[in-house]
Amino acid sequence: MTRQRLTGWGRTSASLSSVISPRNEDEVAAALSGEVIARGLGRSYGDAAQLAGGVVLDNAELGGVSAISADGLVTVGAGVSLEDLLALSIPQGWFVPVTPGTRQVSIGGMIGADVHGKNHHREGSIGAHVTEMRLVTPIGAMTLSPTHEPALFWATMGAMGLTGVLTSVTLRMIRIETDQVLVDTDRFGDLDAVMAEMSRGDDAYRYSVAWVDCMTRGSHMGRAILTRGDHATASQVDDAHLKAPRAARLRVPLDAPSGLLNPFSIRAFNELWFRSAPRHERDEAQSLATFFHPLDGVGDWNRLYGRRGFVQYQFCVPDAAGETVVEAISRLSSSRVPSFLAVLKRFGAANPAPLSFPQPGWTLALDLPVGPEKLPGILDGLDELVLGAGGRVYLAKDARLAPATFAAMYPRLGEFLALKARVDPEGHLTSDLARRLHLGSPHG
Ligand SMILES: Cc1cc2nc3c(=O)[nH]c(=O)nc-3n(C[C@H](O)[C@H](O)[C@H](O)COP(=O)(O)OP(=O)(O)OC[C@H]3O[C@@H](n4cnc5c(N)ncnc54)[C@H](O)[C@@H]3O)c2cc1C
Repeated sequence: MTRQRLTGWGRTSASLSSVISPRNEDEVAAALSGEVIARGLGRSYGDAAQLAGGVVLDNAELGGVSAISADGLVTVGAGVSLEDLLALSIPQGWFVPVTPGTRQVSIGGMIGADVHGKNHHREGSIGAHVTEMRLVTPIGAMTLSPTHEPALFWATMGAMGLTGVLTSVTLRMIRIETDQVLVDTDRFGDLDAVMAEMSRGDDAYRYSVAWVDCMTRGSHMGRAILTRGDHATASQVDDAHLKAPRAARLRVPLDAPSGLLNPFSIRAFNELWFRSAPRHERDEAQSLATFFHPLDGVGDWNRLYGRRGFVQYQFCVPDAAGETVVEAISRLSSSRVPSFLAVLKRFGAANPAPLSFPQPGWTLALDLPVGPEKLPGILDGLDELVLGAGGRVYLAKDARLAPATFAAMYPRLGEFLALKARVDPEGHLTSDLARRLHLGSPHG
């Protein structure tokens, strides 16, 4: 056991925890006698995978990947990284059904957040592709599936580790013929234009994402680059192969000085990004890494935000409340609070998980360096705006939501807490996030 100062990827809200790395279910079970939370690769942005004064179970030793069956089923240890799974599966012609924007996540962390990718509008979040998982709870270890203990299966999806510790997960992978994606790119001069095109055309594409410039005001507010595509078949590319992406070879060695990312440098970066994208391009072959995980080329890139770190604010709102996205970007661009290119996606149908984030409509994720005095007030205002529109904030990105706002955004919280109490009657499973949001922790 070691004492460690832990943070999420945003490097805010640090706390000291005792960290252990259990190797099997028995060792996990033994650790569940006190206050505890699981941790994967620490890529959630806020305080979900840390526990001040408690025990953090690093899932790194919960390894193992089974053979992939003819219909794509694979059983993966909860501590296996997505990078390692893809290194094994891509050469055999299999890809994950859902991937977040980085391969540096663990399988346990993907379930903990019920992650979504660029294909939620068509294929939902990861929960829809899980056939079985092993969960160790304070009342014992159990196998969960959509048909066996379905209520607990779904309660665990997006539960941020609060129903137990997953040791393995069985997923259904998808077939790919190449390691390329055929991408269509379009540039739009303003937000209304890109949103209209996404509403009209996204369903024709398996994957879709728009990068929105939140620093431009006036008639070009929310100018955007929309990239959409699908896996290339062998006959669609000249040189078809199945190579796994390479691990990052560059790292950011030091914390950048706070202030490196200021309105001027971010505006300059956004300008360069926007101008370097083609106006319209069709069927451009991109590697899986370039299309899905562009930030993974540089390790520890969160250090660019300096010691104070950064907040990622991600919300979703129903389709009918698309103007909330426009209003959020308008508030940011007029406030002059620096924010990097935002990511805008469409969500399809929600799954039955009570704490899962996605619901049909729009989702916007904003990266905001900590520092400007106005920032907390702006984010509180965005919470009200999102809640008023029937939307919610993503817990995997959150470090600051207030408990009452959270409860109003997740109306099935009571159902979740009742299921949690069944498997964790003494409230051993808790985290800094759970304490802050009163998610069934005795400290709440
Ligand atoms: C660059 C970047 C891009 C991202 N893009 C996306 C995206 O496109 N879509 C998206 O949905 N998310 C995205 N994320 C967020 C990320 O996918 C989630 O936060 C994910 O949970 C991180 O996995 P992790 O292994 O790092 O988990 P951690 O951050 O360590 O933990 C996350 C949660 O999972 C729980 N957990 C971890 N292991 C287990 C286990 N064995 N059993 C039970 N619970 C467990 C933890 O308790 C915690 O609550 C992105 C993050 C980054 C840094």
